[in-house]
Amino acid sequence: MGFVFADLHLHTRFSDGTYTPEELVAEAHRQGFVTLSITDHDTVEGCPAMARACAEHGLQFIPGVELTAEYEGLEVHILGYGFDPGHPELLEQMDRFQAVRQQRIHEMVARLNEMNIPLPVERVFALANCRSPGRPHVARALVEAGVCRDLDEAFERFLKKHRPAWVPKWKVSVPEAIRLLHRAGGVAVLAHPGLYYADPVLPDLVRAGLDGIECFHTKHTPAVTERYLALAGRYGLVVTGGSDCHGYNKGQPLLGSIRLAPEFVERLQHRIAARRAEFSMKGS
Ligand code: AMP
Ligand code: ZN
Ligand code: FE
Ligand code: FE
Repeated sequence: MGFVFADLHLHTRFSDGTYTPEELVAEAHRQGFVTLSITDHDTVEGCPAMARACAEHGLQFIPGVELTAEYEGLEVHILGYGFDPGHPELLEQMDRFQAVRQQRIHEMVARLNEMNIPLPVERVFALANCRSPGRPHVARALVEAGVCRDLDEAFERFLKKHRPAWVPKWKVSVPEAIRLLHRAGGVAVLAHPGLYYADPVLPDLVRAGLDGIECFHTKHTPAVTERYLALAGRYGLVVTGGSDCHGYNKGQPLLGSIRLAPEFVERLQHRIAARRAEFSMKGS
């Protein structure tokens, strides 16, 4: 065996990734993955195409999403898994998150224009070509226009928090994000906790219904992974992992950097089934 691994954190062109779901699945299949999710920012639109592509290659597919949420002023990413991608309330909320993202693009480009950088907002939307645009699309437009050499420069000079073209974004609260995912038949997982310091609020998030922690992530050192594996054990949370591959946004694609073992996928599936039973009994 050896080739029975999962990648549960993947971005596509439906948000700020560069692969289509079909390209991503073909590449993951070539690399020997057997289970995949898709976790685009604030959209579930890629789920049907990803499900079809996985079925064609004989891979197991788990619907997913990465929600930008907030807890006590801290931006926290919440991964959702196993929900119904056609759930009406989920789709309605995604529309709202996407409207906020689109408005923010207008505001960021207006700030650039005020700095005498003549970037047309239409160009950013054309490059993004999706309903859930983000800062990487503004960065790509800046590179294309010759204003910046690469995406890192665009973030460093303009787009990082508190830089001149950065615009704060309204975010759903973590407890609301968790409730939304539960009502849609899924579970909620804290994404890459090593990238922000959420440890002090972890007990609160568990009380709010958090189901898991993404312990395995490209940017986690072995020590960070160990720390969150221990915390997952202490709080009775499932463990997930993924590469957070965005395709060719930033050098080499990250696909293949994380290979999640099947035991974790199995425990995630059990948790999804348990939450579904709980929430269908509540009739919500
Ligand atoms: P947004 O969702 O619009 O706030 O944009 C956040 C996204 O920007 C993250 O999910 C990353 O994919 C991406 N990002 C953050 N920093 C950088 C960087 N230095 N270069 C390229 N992409 C970045
Ligand atoms: Zn991203
Ligand atoms: Fe994230
Ligand atoms: Fe991500």
